[in-house]
Amino acid sequence: MVAANSTAITVAYGDGIGPEIMRAALQVMQAAGARLDIEEIEIGEQVYKRGFTSGIEPKAWDSLRRTKVFFKAPITTPQGGGYKSLNVTIRKTLGLYANVRPCVSYAPFVETHHPKMDLVIVRENEEDLYAGIEHRQSDEVFQCLKLISRPGCEKIVRYAFEYARANKRRKVSCFTKDNIMKMTDGLFHKVFDEIGAEYPDIEKDHWIIDIGMARVATHPERFDVIVTPNLYGDILSDVTAELAGSVGLAGSANIGDHVAMFEAIHGTAPDIAGKNLANPSGLLLAGVMMLAHIGQPEVATNIHNAWLRTIEDGIHTRDLYNAELTRHLVGTDAFTEAVIARLGQLPNTFKPVAYVEAATQKVKASVVAREPAKRELVGVDVFLDHENRDPQALGEGLRQVSDGGSLALNMITNRGVKVYPNGFPETFCTDHWRCRFMAAEPGERVKHSQVLALLARLIDAGYEVIKTEYLFKFDGEPGYSLGQGQ
Ligand code: NAD
Repeated sequence: MVAANSTAITVAYGDGIGPEIMRAALQVMQAAGARLDIEEIEIGEQVYKRGFTSGIEPKAWDSLRRTKVFFKAPITTPQGGGYKSLNVTIRKTLGLYANVRPCVSYAPFVETHHPKMDLVIVRENEEDLYAGIEHRQSDEVFQCLKLISRPGCEKIVRYAFEYARANKRRKVSCFTKDNIMKMTDGLFHKVFDEIGAEYPDIEKDHWIIDIGMARVATHPERFDVIVTPNLYGDILSDVTAELAGSVGLAGSANIGDHVAMFEAIHGTAPDIAGKNLANPSGLLLAGVMMLAHIGQPEVATNIHNAWLRTIEDGIHTRDLYNAELTRHLVGTDAFTEAVIARLGQLPNTFKPVAYVEAATQKVKASVVAREPAKRELVGVDVFLDHENRDPQALGEGLRQVSDGGSLALNMITNRGVKVYPNGFPETFCTDHWRCRFMAAEPGERVKHSQVLALLARLIDAGYEVIKTEYLFKFDGEPGYSLGQGQ
């Protein structure tokens, strides 16, 4: 029977070990008094086989949009055959911009090299190289567009600070590569500094991703909350999950303004499916995050503490087995019963957890309203597919074509390195050239018609124009990077 004050959630049992760990997680939640009104949907292998290449049927979206909370077991993504990853589809379609992954060590009860690790990765989930906008540009060169937006940065960074405050975390670290990607990662870092200033109670620092990630791998205990763009977060969160001891232990939340999705970080574990061997902890801890999110923090607290007590009591599934630490090696069902038997108890060695009403649920995208910057066209980068690898000859040829026009050749780069004028003979050149043209009269405004006239002259002269990128100033600031070596 469904309690009057229950919250509707959508549940998918998934594939492989999905059904057994979902049953386990829901049993514990029900025993702990979670007030849930469950709507089941089918996703994954069977749905793909019925011809839905996205792995989800249209009617399942209705449930997700109605309940706005999705508790999801892992699913199989069939290889090849044009099948799309359902996870990516759900994240993007429902605007789940924040991927939140707590990574905690459970030493001395679970073997790990990093006994004091207790950090949370807040990964941006929608932007960056995952826009999937890729092009082959020439015979030799392929590109992928990295898109970072100001609203996207503001949403994820604010979420990270609100999460830190709501969960009594002391510090937020930002990881980017803005020494190289000064515009895209630079924006992420800038927004981190701007929004961070509104949270004087929280410590903050910024790390270049390579040394930051190396430091997490060697000293994870020095970090607390880490906020980072999509690709870095993807890699970093798997590194930290691995450090914790077992892939079966971690849960994650995908948060959007309208809908949130909660799942284990691991997959369907086909090697142990249906054998009563799976560790349901990852999904259960994702469920705990869900309970806090839907306003049942007392139930979340009760389950999490009972689970910690179970681990402390040496009741372990096979993935956690250690001859010295494991007292009872159990299957999925017995582990579930052990957690249920400990509801209402606190851990002895681990610090008990206490969830509060999840303020994060109320964090809205809160994008800062601002006047759009004034945009002024100052030049154009014309990309050429050009077989002759002599930059000097190309530069002189282009100068001849553009001579007398309103746009003059400013430089040529190859894979971002300036090769004309005054390039180095040692620089390796591909068939992909960026040729930058700026106003012939310095400071003069450029018109679109002038760009089109230049392109027509280049094409008439036999150059293979493959792409243009307009060069704008925004409020007088260049909106384009310099060539390497310029
Ligand atoms: P996996 O996470 O399923 O398994 C990796 C290893 O970890 C296996 O040895 C498995 O037995 C073990 N393992 C995983 N979860 C466990 C648990 N709860 N308890 C005990 N041991 C556990 O990764 P994989 O083998 O690379 O992928 C298998 C399938 O899962 C693939 O079809 C993949 O597409 C899918 N997958 C789905 C999701 C998702 O739905 N979120 C995520 C990752 C992978």
